[in-house]
Amino acid sequence: MYSVTDRVLVLGSGFAGLWAALGAARRLDELGVSPDAVEIVVISSRPFHDIRVRNYEADISACRIPLADVLDPAGVRHVVGDVTSIDVAARTVSLADGAAYDFDRLVLAVGSQVVRPDVPGLSEFGFDVDTYDASRRLQDHLRTLGGCAGDPTAAATVVVVGAGLTGIETACELPDVMRAIFGGDVTPRVVLIDRNPYVGSNMGESARPVIEKALADNGVETVTGVRVAAVDKAGITLSSGEVLPAATVVWCAGMRANPLTAQLGVERDGLGRVPVDDYLRVIGVPGVFAAGDVAAARMDDEHLSVMSCQHSRPMGRYAGDNVISDLCGEPLLSLRIPWYVTVLDLGPAGAVYTEGWDRQVVADGEQAKATKRVINTQRIYPPLDRDRAALLAAAAPALQTAPARGE
Ligand SMILES: Cc1cc2nc3c(=O)[nH]c(=O)nc-3n(C[C@H](O)[C@H](O)[C@H](O)COP(=O)(O)OP(=O)(O)OC[C@H]3O[C@@H](n4cnc5c(N)ncnc54)[C@H](O)[C@@H]3O)c2cc1C
Repeated sequence: MYSVTDRVLVLGSGFAGLWAALGAARRLDELGVSPDAVEIVVISSRPFHDIRVRNYEADISACRIPLADVLDPAGVRHVVGDVTSIDVAARTVSLADGAAYDFDRLVLAVGSQVVRPDVPGLSEFGFDVDTYDASRRLQDHLRTLGGCAGDPTAAATVVVVGAGLTGIETACELPDVMRAIFGGDVTPRVVLIDRNPYVGSNMGESARPVIEKALADNGVETVTGVRVAAVDKAGITLSSGEVLPAATVVWCAGMRANPLTAQLGVERDGLGRVPVDDYLRVIGVPGVFAAGDVAAARMDDEHLSVMSCQHSRPMGRYAGDNVISDLCGEPLLSLRIPWYVTVLDLGPAGAVYTEGWDRQVVADGEQAKATKRVINTQRIYPPLDRDRAALLAAAAPALQTAPARGE
């Protein structure tokens, strides 16, 4: 009944890509299609499923999961490579190493990247926590500072640029990290700066006082209403003319969808995302689905998806299910998510948990931190015991309920 030569390519192995691949394998199983009839191939630049949302944490040792542990048991092939081009007309994907892969159906799940504007010195001297490797680079750099000759004030100062969610989480974690590196010899300084008049502008009025108090309690200084003029080895120059001596600048100012989205030839939104319908099909590109940060999907009648792990995982599961249903001529499932929450880590000061698109605080301090811990260490992980049945079950296109408060 089914062709034995069909190939589904999934590009990316993050929250959307992993779950799309497992979701596709699960749907094949459910339809009774032989795994020999349809090949599912994940192409990703690293042979890992990285738990990207934890890159701000001091210890990221549990944030890198070998793809072999989660894809091999499900019968999903994986290839390490950087995708450089996608030809949707010829249905071919090309890699930097010269390899090319044809596809019958494609799921684009190559995520997003921190926006690094053309600020002098930023590419040379700036750090970020956008990827596992970048986060490791930052941690390795910080560890060299303790015994550093030169200006001890600059060595003990970290400037975090961008007081959005990632910047706040990163800044809250750093004072303890710096204290561990410098011991009692030097008082570390962490400065969070933003061009907006407030920190956490996109977290809304309800959460702002909680965030401001947490930053103060953690000893994080804030400077708002300024831009960055330049970064160099010795520090950072602000648009106000102020120079902050700092051996470390961490750039957390905004995310944009992977530039590969441009190759689908459709109009993208302001974040560089391609439009998808309720079934995660890229509108106007037959045979191509998209999920996660590369896609703008409708979550309810009023709201589009947010670049988040919260939305990427269900988008991945539904895209995986639908790509197989589409291939096999079966009905597709539409995705709508009736709830939206944000749980922001505030380091030693706990966390803040908001509900709704207007982000009303429903828990803070240790109660919210307990929820964040469950999210970061359990809820967003795939089964890790190489159990095929458990992996496929976890990839079912069913919506999780919102995280419990204070779990
Ligand atoms: C520090 C930090 C904290 C965050 N905190 C939260 C949070 O608390 N809650 C939340 O919901 N979201 C959070 N996010 C956002 C969340 O991590 C992203 O929205 C999510 O990872 C998007 O999932 P994705 O699968 O679309 O992309 P990613 O998880 O980024 O995965 C992209 C995949 O594509 C691969 N790839 C990229 N380019 C290529 C290429 N050219 N060729 C081949 N493969 C490629 C990558 O290797 C990776 O496997 C945070 C992000 C960061 C950086």
